[in-house]
Amino acid sequence: MADVRPDDFIVFSDVTKTFQTGTQSYTAIRDVTLSMKRGDITMLLGPSGCGKSTLLNMTAGLISASKGRVSYGGTEVSGLNGKVAYMTQQDHLLPWRTVAGNVSVPLEVAGLPKRQCEARVAELLALVGLKDFATSYPNQISGGMRKRCALARLLAAERETLLLDEPFGALDAQLRLTLQAELLRICRKLNLTVMFVTHDIEEAAALGDRCAVFQGRPGTIAKVFDNPLPKDRDLARLRFDPRHHAFTNELWAMLTPDLSAAPAELQASA
Ligand code: ADP
Ligand code: MG
Repeated sequence: MADVRPDDFIVFSDVTKTFQTGTQSYTAIRDVTLSMKRGDITMLLGPSGCGKSTLLNMTAGLISASKGRVSYGGTEVSGLNGKVAYMTQQDHLLPWRTVAGNVSVPLEVAGLPKRQCEARVAELLALVGLKDFATSYPNQISGGMRKRCALARLLAAERETLLLDEPFGALDAQLRLTLQAELLRICRKLNLTVMFVTHDIEEAAALGDRCAVFQGRPGTIAKVFDNPLPKDRDLARLRFDPRHHAFTNELWAMLTPDLSAAPAELQASA
């Protein structure tokens, strides 16, 4: 088992998860050891079905490990983890509430007085660039705006950790970059810890301070990579940075070795 570092915050120690459905049992992840530091963005990268969402569910305390231990802030996770905010793959916006009404849900649940609630919603909408759409309904805004709205609602819960399951999956490239940059800015500003699931190598290389690459069924960790770029990296400039290219290539080589050999003419001149 890997060494546990003093600044570890979320730790998976030798975790295996086997699901029991009727008489069938299915092992989704096996012997996963992974530690994450407070304030870091950790990407869980790998093909569909290798157990990435299962790891988020375990951090949230929705399901428990069959073997091994999941700890959060030094305490074993048992039962729902109230310190995390979880954004599942679907945004689950309420269609009968406006954008502002959706963002205010966690504040209302927390019992915040109406005035404070409105002020906080306005701040959050400004933070995600939606202040002109406060009175729109989810079916009147674009997919990207819906994601921003869901992100604002997530932030309204004011949890120290975000669990994000392929949050920018179906978006076009430019919008994705905009939202990634916004997320990075917000996380740094609020010093949030993030577990971010993706199957997109470019996204993992851009956003991750660390990237855990998963493989196989049951899923295991193939390797954990540290991003060579500093935490205040500018996402819009990454494509000009050779360190970023080298990092992206390492991830490609780990995930798709067959497709990742450099073309012969480049190898010859290297
Ligand atoms: P990923 O997010 O990497 O696509 P998941 O964590 O969703 O993978 O699932 C990993 C495997 O575990 C899949 O084969 C899935 O069908 C199975 N699985 C996930 N949750 C359950 C569950 N609650 N009961 C039974 N099988 C499950
Ligand atoms: Mg998943």
